Amino acid sequence: MKNQIDMLIELQEMDSTENSSNAKKSNNGKNTDQKLRDKLKSAVTPHVFTLYEKLYRAREGQALAKIEDGVCGGCHVVLPTKELPFVAEAKNIVQCWNCQRILYTL
Ligand SMILES: [Zn+2]
Repeated sequence: MKNQIDMLIELQEMDSTENSSNAKKSNNGKNTDQKLRDKLKSAVTPHVFTLYEKLYRAREGQALAKIEDGVCGGCHVVLPTKELPFVAEAKNIVQCWNCQRILYTL
């Protein structure tokens, strides 16, 4: 069972690939991607998906940020230590206090 963060990471990879692979122009491939995208979309909580889309647009294709050494991978601010366990558990959506990106660890 995948958690929401994993699905959002997949969505973001899919969205960024779609934008950069316009040269392919394969309609069949695109339909398949759309189906998979719908599947991922229906698997995440609606408000989380809305948040993802908003951030994806606002942050130029980077709605998620990986935490490295307690620092946001998106904007490089130091994150409150107390929030880190929540991100590691990936049960709740935790956003960076500075750039609002959805935080995750691998
Ligand atoms: Zn940030």
